[in-house]
Formats: sequence, C-alpha cells, structure tokens
Amino acid sequence: YDGYIFESSSLHLLLKNTKISSRKLLIYSHLKEALEQEEFHLVFQPIIDVSKNSIVGAEALLRWKGSKIGNITASELIPILEESEYIHPIGYWIIKKACKEMKKWHLKTKLNLELHINISSNQLKAANFGTTFLSILKEEQLDPTLFTLEITEHSFMELDENILNNIHLLSQNGVSFAIDDFGTGYSNFNNLNQLPISTIKIDKSFIMNALDSEKNIEIIDIMISLSKKLKIDVVAEGVETKEILQLLRNHNCSLIQGYYFSKPLHSSVFLDYIERNQVS
Ligand code: C2E
Ligand code: MG
Ligand code: MG
Ligand code: MG
Repeated sequence: YDGYIFESSSLHLLLKNTKISSRKLLIYSHLKEALEQEEFHLVFQPIIDVSKNSIVGAEALLRWKGSKIGNITASELIPILEESEYIHPIGYWIIKKACKEMKKWHLKTKLNLELHINISSNQLKAANFGTTFLSILKEEQLDPTLFTLEITEHSFMELDENILNNIHLLSQNGVSFAIDDFGTGYSNFNNLNQLPISTIKIDKSFIMNALDSEKNIEIIDIMISLSKKLKIDVVAEGVETKEILQLLRNHNCSLIQGYYFSKPLHSSVFLDYIERNQVS
C-alpha cells in the first residue's frame, strides 16, 4: 500500500461521471501533490462515557489544509476520494497515521484507549482490505479489539462478497463495526441482524435538534432502546449543550461525542486532554 501507484485510470474513472464540476476537478488535480507533500492530517475527537466519567477513546477525522486551494472540509473531500481511486492510498494513509498516533497515547498514558476510524464502502470492496488493515495493526503492535470501523448506512446497500468477507475477517480478529449517521440512510434492520455490528452512532442531526420537538426525542429514545435490546453500544454524536447531554443521560445513553466535551483535536492536544481529564 505504500507503493500505491497513481494510475491515470483513476482520472478516467472520475471523468466517466458526466456531472463532474470544475470545483471537483480542481480538488482532484491537487490530490496527488497533497498526499506527497503531507498536506493531510488527522484530528481526534474524544468519545466520553459519562456513566464512568472516562474517555473511551477517539474518532479519527481527516483534514486537508491545501497549500494551493485552501481548506477543504471532510464532507466535500471524502465523496471525491470515493469517486476516484484515491480513497485507497489515502484510506491506508489514514489508518497508518491514526495507528501511529494511537501508539503514542498508549505509551504515554498506559490507558487502553480505543480508536474509531471512518471507512468508506469502496475501501471495504477491495479484496485485500481486511488483511492489509490487520497487517498495519500488527506493524504497530496494536490490539485489534481496540478498533472500531465506522461505516455509514448507505455502504450497506451494496453488500458484495468482498465487503462481507472483509467484515467477517476483521470481526473474527476482534475489530468492531459501527453504523455511522444512524437513522439518516436506508436503515435496514437486516444489517443489525446479520452483520457483526457492535455500535450505532445516532446522527448528529437528531441530536442537535433534540429539543426542538417531542417527536425528535421519541426517535432518539427508540434508537437508544433498540441498541439496548440488541445489546450493542449507542453513541450520540453532535452533543453541544448541557441540556442535550442531560436529556441523553435521562434516556440512558452514556457514550457521548460532541463539542460540549471537545472539538476534534490534534493528536498532541488530545493527549493533553486525556491527561487533564482522565480519572484512572
Ligand atoms: P462523521 O463520521 O459522522 O463524523 C462526525 C462529524 O461531526 C465530524 O465532521 C465532526 O467534526 C462533527 N462533529 C462532532 N461533534 C460535533 C458537534 O458537537 N457539533 C457539530 N456541529 N459537529 C460535530 P467532519 O470532521 O467534518 O467529518 C464529516 C464527515 O466526513 C464524517 O462524518 C465522515 O463521514 C467523513 N469523514 C471524516 N474523516 C473521514 C475519514 O478519515 N475517512 C472517511 N471515509 N470519512 C471521513
Ligand atoms: Mg464517523
Ligand atoms: Mg460519526
Ligand atoms: Mg456521523
């Protein structure tokens, strides 16, 4: 994966999409250089267990500070990476980089902090994704059971053989899976039934609007109850206020991610955050 060759075929792939905008092409044309010149970096958002008053770990999030085209948000960048073949080299770069940072936290804090990494369906479609992922962890001597791969609901719409094989291989080796942005896609209870899903993440659109209507609260409550009944974890993302945190606590949701506790942080700042807040 280090020597991933940038084939011009990926440009052809992108150009096959006739709806391509000039903005997309502009971003696309800077990707190779960005990867070579290390313009990408990761930030880490703490995931807190409020019932234990502890930091469970963090979710790694991609950032691109483009020297030529300015900051590009993850929401704009990721779909472009997915449409092109770039999701593969950059996806492996993300995993490697996140592992390296995680290793530092472990050495410094002696805590078994967990790491959530977002994975797109195209990554899971690559036949050797699972084995490559495990080999990266092995290189860093990291325990697979500390990893959760976050996949959005729409990835599950196209469960081909490779995706299933990768999910099963990783799961057999202790890696966990979370359904990200739960409730926004084509929620399919079959996935919860048939795949080794250990966590659902309630989409921030529900959480941020939680106090706007009674209906919203009911929907959140149902997602929490569903997870309890299925004996899987539930994380609320996008928790920005004390009021919403309190509401979630009242509904027995204790895994929290959001600006109320912390924005995504640079790795060293995340370390400071752990050292300041962790009660061991
Ligand atoms: P996501 O995985 O659902 O990540 C959560 C997003 O919510 C992040 O946005 C995070 O910064 C934001 N967020 C967290 N707490 C709050 C809050 O309290 N308030 C508000 N307003 N926002 C909050 P971000 O980093 O811009 O990422 C957007 C999406 O891009 C991610 O959504 C994920 O789907 C994708 N993404 C980011 N990094 C990666 C990556 O490394 N690989 C892949 N495949 N996708 C990624
Ligand atoms: Mg996520
Ligand atoms: Mg998420
Ligand atoms: Mg989400």
